Amino acid sequence: MIKILIVEDEKPISNLIYINLRDEGYECSQAYDGREAADLIEKHKYDLILLDIMLPIIDGYELLEYIRPTNTPVIFITARSGVSDRIKGLRLGADDYIVKPFQVGELIARVEALLRRMGKSTTEYSILGVEINTESRTVKKDGKEIELTLKEFDLLVELVRNKNVAMYRERLYERVWNEPFMGETRTLDSHIGRLRKKLDWEDHIKTVFRVGYRLEV
Ligand code: CA
Repeated sequence: MIKILIVEDEKPISNLIYINLRDEGYECSQAYDGREAADLIEKHKYDLILLDIMLPIIDGYELLEYIRPTNTPVIFITARSGVSDRIKGLRLGADDYIVKPFQVGELIARVEALLRRMGKSTTEYSILGVEINTESRTVKKDGKEIELTLKEFDLLVELVRNKNVAMYRERLYERVWNEPFMGETRTLDSHIGRLRKKLDWEDHIKTVFRVGYRLEV
């Protein structure tokens, strides 16, 4: 599992990031000041650190010097929109930055892009006896390969990343098909039906009345 440290002293922002990244399947920790972050970085290995600049005790710039030797990729979260701050951050070794206020979707996209660039997005999932490898795009159940179509595979990964969460049809459709959901549910429903059959997950992919689907684990 990919581990992300969120260093942000504004709790509502930190929690918003935490919830959204967790829903994407990342394991997240939170630090609310520079010292707490430094302690965590010393004790644990993270795959990525989201780093606010203005922090109590030790600020983000200083913390970055601490992080650099660990070779952990860093995305700066900055309230400042000044060009010089971004340049300073990037020069100090941040891999990317995002300016507050930001859309959560944008943050997630940047996290994913950076992890891909670092070759860390090789995500393997093991769930209910099913092994999923998103790089080789293979699915095995009890050691036997299961043939899925492109969209069935993407749909499966989406459900797995959001396990135990009721997923709206709209969201599922738009994530997997990359086009706006126009209310036509047959495509999604038939893919769900085939996934249930192929994986023998009739009991696990639940239909949530008026919402959509939930993978129950
Ligand atoms: Ca701050």
